[in-house]
Amino acid sequence: MRALFFEQHGSSEGLKIGERPDPVPGPGEVLVKLETAAMNRLDLFVLHGIPGVPVGLPHIPGADGFGSVETLGAGVTGLAPGERVVLQPGLGDGKCEFCLAGELSLCVDFRILGEHVDGTFAERIAVPRRNVFPAPPNLSPEKAAAFPLAALTAWRMLVTRAQLRPGETVLIHGIGGGVSTFALQIARLAGASLVIVTSSSEEKRTKAEKLGADVVLDYTKVDVGKKVREMTKKRGVDVVIDSVGAATWRHSLNAAAKKGRIVTCGATSDPNPEEELRIIFWKQLAILGSTMGTDAEFAAMLKDVAAGRLDPVVDEVYPLSEAKKGFDRLESGVGFGKIVFRIG
Ligand SMILES: [Zn+2]
Repeated sequence: MRALFFEQHGSSEGLKIGERPDPVPGPGEVLVKLETAAMNRLDLFVLHGIPGVPVGLPHIPGADGFGSVETLGAGVTGLAPGERVVLQPGLGDGKCEFCLAGELSLCVDFRILGEHVDGTFAERIAVPRRNVFPAPPNLSPEKAAAFPLAALTAWRMLVTRAQLRPGETVLIHGIGGGVSTFALQIARLAGASLVIVTSSSEEKRTKAEKLGADVVLDYTKVDVGKKVREMTKKRGVDVVIDSVGAATWRHSLNAAAKKGRIVTCGATSDPNPEEELRIIFWKQLAILGSTMGTDAEFAAMLKDVAAGRLDPVVDEVYPLSEAKKGFDRLESGVGFGKIVFRIG
């Protein structure tokens, strides 16, 4: 099959399009013929090489994919060839205490498509049956690839971890990425009374307003933490969504209301901010980690996507043969929404 892969870690210069062996579905697995796939920041990290996460080389990246069922491995039920599907990108061992409790993303052997195993930037992929979900029929192939990982991550952060309630207020750092664009939509859907987002780009700020942001702050011009406190009469916001890390952490601590919840799912700037424990104990903040999500969360999120309540935002679409452009665009940070590859 044709696939995008790399033979050594490094820059996008090392990406190649070529033939890779066709995957064969084992017992309990499904072979999916992919039509579209979407990028996540994870793909850049995997290409560059993540310390402590060895991958087999050559490696095919890609966590998000949309396509149709081609063949079923032994024992697979409830799916038919030709069915249009999307993939939940998380893989568990199915037997640890967390898997048994339904907490897939806490699995002691948690893995992700395209990170620990070959991913979706290929014509075919074999995945466990439980990773295959019906594709929302209302979406184009491009949008259908553009939500699983990011929407699932944002869903768990806001709904499960922060337990956002109607009328509460939210700050989301760095609008434009997949997780933040879904976090904005999910905050609105959950009934937030005020959603503040940040960006340095005027174009992104305009798009964020169209997507439902009440206030969009330019973090190059204002002190975000201070501004949020001013805007909320010194109270601060109930929930802060922070995937940026060191560059935004102090603002997150300052912007949070007393008893506020700060949820982190990543650290695209630097993972080691100064913590300022005095703010954490004085305001009695909850600092909550979050990683992707469970099958139940995926199904709940999928329902909202299928009903049109969550709308995947597509930034650019490229044929897989021009995937390097997608990697470079994501690296540059100029885009708003997901970068999608057309595979067929
Ligand atoms: Zn497990």
